[in-house]
Amino acid sequence: MTELLFFEPVFKERIWGGTKLTSFGYEISSDQTGECWAFAAHTHGQSVVKNGKYKGLTLGELWKKNRTLFGDLDGDCFPLLTKILDANQDLSVQVHPNDEYANIHENGEFGKTECWYVIDCEENAEIIYGHHAKTKEEFMSMVEQEEWEKLLHRVKVKPGDFFYVPSGTVHAIGKGILILETQQNSDTTYRLYDYNRKDSKGNTRELHLEKSIEVTEIPCTSNKLAVQQEKIHDLNVTTFIECPYFSVRKWGLNGTTSLKQQKPFLLVSVIDGKGSLISGGNTYFFEKGDHFLVPNDFEEYQLVGNAECIVSSL
Ligand code: ZN
Repeated sequence: MTELLFFEPVFKERIWGGTKLTSFGYEISSDQTGECWAFAAHTHGQSVVKNGKYKGLTLGELWKKNRTLFGDLDGDCFPLLTKILDANQDLSVQVHPNDEYANIHENGEFGKTECWYVIDCEENAEIIYGHHAKTKEEFMSMVEQEEWEKLLHRVKVKPGDFFYVPSGTVHAIGKGILILETQQNSDTTYRLYDYNRKDSKGNTRELHLEKSIEVTEIPCTSNKLAVQQEKIHDLNVTTFIECPYFSVRKWGLNGTTSLKQQKPFLLVSVIDGKGSLISGGNTYFFEKGDHFLVPNDFEEYQLVGNAECIVSSL
């Protein structure tokens, strides 16, 4: 029987970042900390096991050397990346390629389909989610004429909202939003618009207009999700999405429940409260800010406590 594996995240400084990640108990070194890479096995960041016999190994190393933890799945690279983002400013408007395009144009990278769970946000906070152009010509003309308000689809958000952002969707996280993002393991972003912002040296950030236009889905289709609710003893399970790239659920725990491992593995991010996971005679305490992997051989386990977790797998 293996152990529950807790991970030490990697933090990223971003010009739009802030200090809200401290609310998870993290020590951050900059007041522009934008991203917490909770489960990361990418060349730009690797989270590290902090307990048990695998202590010190990166998620990427575990995937390579201990594939049984993940149910012996295929693949050269670990498929998922989980982040918490603190948008203290608007993020640039961007779009990501799909697998096929990224493989050809970005050196064998994965494409990037992602999804967002809104942990917290300011009142009237907004995201950009899709666009209003009917044809590629219309899209290009609006970009050229800088008719951004006409082109971009704005949506108001509130805590608990969930958004599915497939590759090809124009999107941006707005100021004042704290989200948990589950995505394909990719760092490929095409920037379409950056509000003409300049940094302290008067420089603007690079745009990728040609690639953005090439990969954007036009017209954009809506991604209304059929969210499902289920109650297992004292656990409310909300299934937000099951797609070829990932599945994402929320656990709302208020008491005690027993679960069976129905996925090759689980990535669990504790976003509120605390509790324990009990399996094979071992009790593992967890609390807000923890990120743990439930390995494949955790066939049955109990959860006890009061906590909210975002749980992802394939
Ligand atoms: Zn994105």
